[in-house]
Amino acid sequence: MSSRHRTETPWHRKPFQLCAFLAALGLSASAVAQQADTCLDVILTGTKGGPNVYGDLAGPGTLVSFGRRDNNCRDLLLQFDAGRATSIRLAQLGIMAGDLDALFLTHTHSDHVQGLADLMQLRWHYYSERPPLDMVSTVDVRAPGGHTLSAGKLAAHIAAPFLASGEIAQRHAERPQTAAEGPAALLNPILVERPDKPTAVWRSGAVVVSAIASTHTANHLSYRVDTPAGSVVIGGDASSDTRKPPREHSTSAQVELLAQGADVLVHSTTHPVMGPEAGGGMPAPIFYRQSTATDLGAMAQRAGISHYLLTHLTPSLGEVPGDEGWAIPGAPLDAGDFKAAVRVGGFTGTIVVGPDLVGLRLPEGLALQPPAPGSTPAP
Ligand SMILES: [Zn+2]
Repeated sequence: MSSRHRTETPWHRKPFQLCAFLAALGLSASAVAQQADTCLDVILTGTKGGPNVYGDLAGPGTLVSFGRRDNNCRDLLLQFDAGRATSIRLAQLGIMAGDLDALFLTHTHSDHVQGLADLMQLRWHYYSERPPLDMVSTVDVRAPGGHTLSAGKLAAHIAAPFLASGEIAQRHAERPQTAAEGPAALLNPILVERPDKPTAVWRSGAVVVSAIASTHTANHLSYRVDTPAGSVVIGGDASSDTRKPPREHSTSAQVELLAQGADVLVHSTTHPVMGPEAGGGMPAPIFYRQSTATDLGAMAQRAGISHYLLTHLTPSLGEVPGDEGWAIPGAPLDAGDFKAAVRVGGFTGTIVVGPDLVGLRLPEGLALQPPAPGSTPAP
């Protein structure tokens, strides 16, 4: 745990003090959950894989929210990655940029973070009085290519174009309640060394977020959230440490360790049909640095996962235009094709395949559907 973690207890987290008190009395986590009547929602805020644009899909991201049932499970709002249009997806759920309690980055590929500038601009504009947003990622990491991957610099320069253009000064003149330093002052980077075993990196009351270093970019982390209402693993874009065949499987041994006994797995998923042998033209190194649906199904089964949410789909569902520069061998894929590939791996639990804003509520395992267009978001 970093010493920079917040120690104050805002009013809206007081139910967790009760949980801690009950736990101290020797009640089990499930008894606490029952008594506190809590729930956990896992919602895909964006399911597009890769930097390109397709249809109305937002860039990668997952919202994990936990809380009292009479508060719609929303006492604690944790966002994992923030791809393009994350702020719009959250708004569709009735969640504003100022409502988030913490942000966790799996890695700093642009498609996973480009919605963060927008989120922070909104938070600065309308919610400057709120506490800085915890942003968990890694310390600077030197990549094999010699360059440095820096989540710290990403945070420090999150509003650089708008500081340079005078936009921040202009808006601040009009709204003096905004922080004069700009949006970066409202981020609290919590930058951890890359942990080689599951390690707690953030907590609030009974909710603990753990991380483990996994293979994709040199600064990639996978996360696990444990709450009294259930647990979820956010694998990100992780894959095997062995970068190409021959290898046992394409999935990450670190994610498998992290996922032991968890309820839900959220993972970027590539369909096996995109492999180089099928001739679609997807570059082999890019295919091999992701996990396939079949191998993820097998891993989820080994780890005892009950629900697998596929996200960051490669390819996206339907008639994807060829703007990535490679084709889908055979016909376009639908959700059934991804589910079938997962079942080949032997997974027997629930499978949820995009689109954006589908999700799952624990502990009951209830499927959550996207809000109807034009509907009033839940408070
Ligand atoms: Zn990605």
